[in-house]
Amino acid sequence: MEKQRRIFIQKAGLIAAASAFTPQILLSTTRSQKKKLGVALVGLGYYSTDLLAPALQLTNNCELRGIVTGSPEKIPVWKEKYGIPDKNVYNYKNFDTIANNPDIDVVYVVLPPSMHAEYTIRAANAGKHVWCEKPMAPSVADCEAMIKACKDNKVKLAIGYRCQHDPNIQAYMKVGKEKPFGKVRMVTSAAGYFDGRTNHWKQNKKLGGGAMGDMGVYALQGARLATGEEPISVLAQASTTRPEIYHEVEETMMFQLEFPSGARASCQTSFGINMNHLQVNYEKGWLKMAPHSSYNGNNGSMSDGTIIKFPIPNQQAKQMDEDALAIMEKTDLIVPGEEGLRDIRVVEAIYKSAAQNCVVKL
Ligand code: NAD
Repeated sequence: MEKQRRIFIQKAGLIAAASAFTPQILLSTTRSQKKKLGVALVGLGYYSTDLLAPALQLTNNCELRGIVTGSPEKIPVWKEKYGIPDKNVYNYKNFDTIANNPDIDVVYVVLPPSMHAEYTIRAANAGKHVWCEKPMAPSVADCEAMIKACKDNKVKLAIGYRCQHDPNIQAYMKVGKEKPFGKVRMVTSAAGYFDGRTNHWKQNKKLGGGAMGDMGVYALQGARLATGEEPISVLAQASTTRPEIYHEVEETMMFQLEFPSGARASCQTSFGINMNHLQVNYEKGWLKMAPHSSYNGNNGSMSDGTIIKFPIPNQQAKQMDEDALAIMEKTDLIVPGEEGLRDIRVVEAIYKSAAQNCVVKL
């Protein structure tokens, strides 16, 4: 029985991992009306430059065709590196004219969080599908407006939670769902890194900074995905060791969650501490992941000896290929806007709890 379960989890993961780049996807794309979706990246900072644009060179179902930037000096570099024609280059002012460009099917919003709602809504109004980076937006109201704009314009909205496309993360989600070790009793989840910058949007409240929205959503996702439940109450505490840098937003947030089944979670996030681990204690066993939300190398083990370690050539390429395929095939997205909203509901409660120093019910 134990052995059968191990094989099952490993097989399930391997199938998920293998399906990222197999002919299956190629075959299904040929069935689609368009072979590849054209993607325009909005905001050409670190994540677009170092991760998304390179990953788009590896995708089967979509390709980089356009850029939207407020930095003219970046245009020749991107044009040359990725062969982007002038007609597919936009700035923040003329962005809305992207509506008339049939090369672009998807707008991927990779801006500071405070700008996610505006650019998602403008892209949706231009008739383009939207991929939006995490955190979805600073408020529940923004998230709801983004979902509504996409619905009204009959376009899809996916949030860039790359981990939910990772078979290693899917493996621990499956344990929570199928309960081979019984119910979840306690989750310990942490995600943080040391950020040495002093004047970045991550330290600016107006732009949507703060550790909670940035790395904190990974700690929160660890607890939500491991239990498969939504929290019913939170208790949070914000702190900083560098008040000269973190005076508008928190450097560190610690938060406790209570779930309907009685499961509890103790979570930490920080811009001052390197940490990335998840531990789930069930009625009859445990699961550990370290790291649990990296770009690569997410892996773990379970109390029965099962190892979670599935190969994944490129997480972002898998995410974008799966999202593009879902759009082309008109199937459900793995991480729709509603999932981004679920996190922000909890994030809002966490901030309220930290400010008022009390338990907040959800
Ligand atoms: P970044 O600061 O490196 O890039 C932000 C871009 O936005 C820059 O090109 C900047 O010029 C542009 N911008 C436009 N208006 C701006 C303004 N008023 N202030 C500051 N920048 C402005 O940030 P990043 O690390 O690339 O993050 C962008 C988004 O991607 C964020 O939502 C972040 O959370 C997300 N992200 C996700 C992952 C992931 O693993 N999914 C990883 C990194 C970043």
